[in-house]
Amino acid sequence: MRAALALLSTLPLLVAFPSAQTRAAKTLDIYVVDVEGGNAQLWVTPSGESVLVDSGNAGAAAVRDADRIMAAVKDAGLSQIDHLITTHYHGDHVGGLPELATRIPIKEFIDHGPNVQPTPQIDPVLQQYAELAAKAKHTVAKTGTRIPVTGLDWRIVSATGQVLKTPLPGAGAPNPYCAGFKRHDVNPVSGGPLGNTEDEQSVASHVTFGKFRVLYLADFDWNQEVELMCPNNRIGSVDLFLVSRHGQPSSNSEALVDAIRPRVTIMNNGPRKGGQPAAMKVLLNSPRLEDLWQIHFALLGGQEYTVPGIFIANVEEGATVPVAPLPPAPPGAAAPAPQHNGPAYWIKVSAQTDGGFTVTNGRNGFSKTYRAGS
Ligand SMILES: [Zn+2]
Repeated sequence: MRAALALLSTLPLLVAFPSAQTRAAKTLDIYVVDVEGGNAQLWVTPSGESVLVDSGNAGAAAVRDADRIMAAVKDAGLSQIDHLITTHYHGDHVGGLPELATRIPIKEFIDHGPNVQPTPQIDPVLQQYAELAAKAKHTVAKTGTRIPVTGLDWRIVSATGQVLKTPLPGAGAPNPYCAGFKRHDVNPVSGGPLGNTEDEQSVASHVTFGKFRVLYLADFDWNQEVELMCPNNRIGSVDLFLVSRHGQPSSNSEALVDAIRPRVTIMNNGPRKGGQPAAMKVLLNSPRLEDLWQIHFALLGGQEYTVPGIFIANVEEGATVPVAPLPPAPPGAAAPAPQHNGPAYWIKVSAQTDGGFTVTNGRNGFSKTYRAGS
């Protein structure tokens, strides 16, 4: 009993200094959370400062996705989210926010400014977003903005479609992968111009932690990639590329993926969203790639266009998976994803300032270290 009381008396201390034990490792940790083809990433610095990038899906899926984000929050020992970046206002990136905000305090809301694509589905979510942001710190990110996170250099390389014009330090060489780039008809808006959706507004981040470099462009589209990357590569090379747009071929051109030369890519896809053959071929052909990790087995890739299961966090239990990819749903008629509502697993990255990092599959515990300097 006395021991239990003694333990209790230490609890406030643990709350005041979140995860002192886990943070002793001095790594930057990134949890790529499974939100069934949406996005949520929890970044935690060695000092315990946190950045959540997107907050999963809306509606019936919001409780599920908030549970999954909170599992990562708990694993990291956090008691608040210091910075929330909402990359854009699509339901799979911001939908879970109102539910999540009932679970944990969020100190700063970062976004690209006004929504360009109002819909009856998203408008109520954004009304709640605005009320929450009004009670906290609210930052509108512009291209070139630095998000102040101790220990990281977090730069916004695109927002509202305004791509970075000045190369990042050390970048700016001619990009040989621009040759042969062909524009795609991405995001035709009925009656409007191409490329004027929320995807193109995405708040895109380049982050360095010592020598470790990461790029996440959210749902930045294929045609914008050439604006950012051609004729000169303004980004340079990165260690980790968090794949654009859930691994769909409406982003992820060679002009981007080959030029940034990631050692590792992580694809936050869903069972029926992302991982199509065209995107898999580009990602797996990137010249310095060591491994592609997937949040889900991709039915749109089939057994043919996939990585070994050891690199996949969530698999299709008991399903018979054909070798050939499933055809994607026709435009405008998205197939309902077979959503698994049971246990879900993350992929966790732990990086060091020397540039080395370890990736761990939350399902099977498999981890692989990518050493600095190779
Ligand atoms: Zn998306």
